[in-house]
Amino acid sequence: MSKLIRSWVESANSHETPFPLNNLPYGVFSTKDLDARCGVAIGDLILDVSTLEAKGLIKATTFPLCQEARWNSLMEAGSQVWSKFRMRLVELLIEGGETSLSANRHLREQVLIDADKARLHLPLKVAEYTDFYSGKHHATNVGTLLRGPENPLPPNWLHLPIGYNGRSSSVVVSGTDVQRPWGQLKSPEFDTPIFTPSRRFDIELEMGAIVGTASSGPITVAEADDNIFGYVLLNDWSARDIQAWEYHPLGPFQAKATATSISPWIVTKAALEPFRTSTPEREKDLLPHLVEPKPLLYNVALEVELKPEGSVATTLSATNMDQLYFSSAQQLAHHTTSGCPMSVGDLLGTGTISGPTKNERGSLLELSWGGKEPIDLGNGISRTFVEDGDTLTLRGNALGEGYRIGFGDCAGKVVAAASDPYKRKS
Ligand code: MN
Repeated sequence: MSKLIRSWVESANSHETPFPLNNLPYGVFSTKDLDARCGVAIGDLILDVSTLEAKGLIKATTFPLCQEARWNSLMEAGSQVWSKFRMRLVELLIEGGETSLSANRHLREQVLIDADKARLHLPLKVAEYTDFYSGKHHATNVGTLLRGPENPLPPNWLHLPIGYNGRSSSVVVSGTDVQRPWGQLKSPEFDTPIFTPSRRFDIELEMGAIVGTASSGPITVAEADDNIFGYVLLNDWSARDIQAWEYHPLGPFQAKATATSISPWIVTKAALEPFRTSTPEREKDLLPHLVEPKPLLYNVALEVELKPEGSVATTLSATNMDQLYFSSAQQLAHHTTSGCPMSVGDLLGTGTISGPTKNERGSLLELSWGGKEPIDLGNGISRTFVEDGDTLTLRGNALGEGYRIGFGDCAGKVVAAASDPYKRKS
């Protein structure tokens, strides 16, 4: 296991910081004085790399990489440039390293911004968004709820990573409020469908892989891993009642189109390298093109917290990315088998990550067992699904020796549904 790499930015050397020099995640931030721009989190600070690049202190290519408020240009530059860029950041920030930044007080004050004073934006332009369903405990729980315990997994499930094409337009950054959606649903009390705000609005604890290298035909699992730039936390907000009615036979549609929240920092594959781990043992042999050539998952501890308005936060669930049955690389490889072109900035949700026990479940649907077992939050508060005013927060940490690689919170507050969106139109 690798150790903390010390920085001259003192707050980056704390055991507690999510952003030591080992991490160097990529985000987009603004302050009251600065327009949105590229930043790298280091301890309690954000390094304004757009300004550093404009001053000639970062030159990984002959063309600019950080002059737009998104990281797509760096991704497009290719994996050798990803390494070169990261090495340059390390040179500038490592304890006892090059002094062009550390020794220049004026420059330091200009380009190191208090994270408290920054507002965070989407770190990339999301090209397209696909969501998978590769959490075996999640799929088993949901299958049991929907179809009973006899055959909870669909027959294809152990052979390929099931997914659906989502909407990149629905992806929002952590901190964005999420409005309870309206939709058509059919509940057992009614003979005919009704149009109403969702009554079973839910979260899904997921991670998202970001494709950094485009492809135009089938690629191997190893190539897919090379093409992934980094990872974020992802909450796939889901209206279970709308989903239950609409999903036959083409899968999720409006139930998943309201919002998908992602954490604000892209944690690179380079930062996660020491935490690689294998997917669980196969229950059925995979076809050769989906077999993992090496460990392609990561040991990332995950948790879900719920905070009702005006009350204290409760941890609902804690699990790990290593519970996924298929890795993001396997998902990406499968995505290309038909010849489907993949673009820089594509976002691939892993699917809800649940562990084997009750307190490791990554959705309220599972935690409340279909709404039948309310979750006690203390103080006389309980939940089956998300209520208006609740803030849901996902957290992720890879734990090293004396340091951790954090993702930054993926949070969203649910606000009440709008008044009937069709009333004024009729
Ligand atoms: Mn999902």
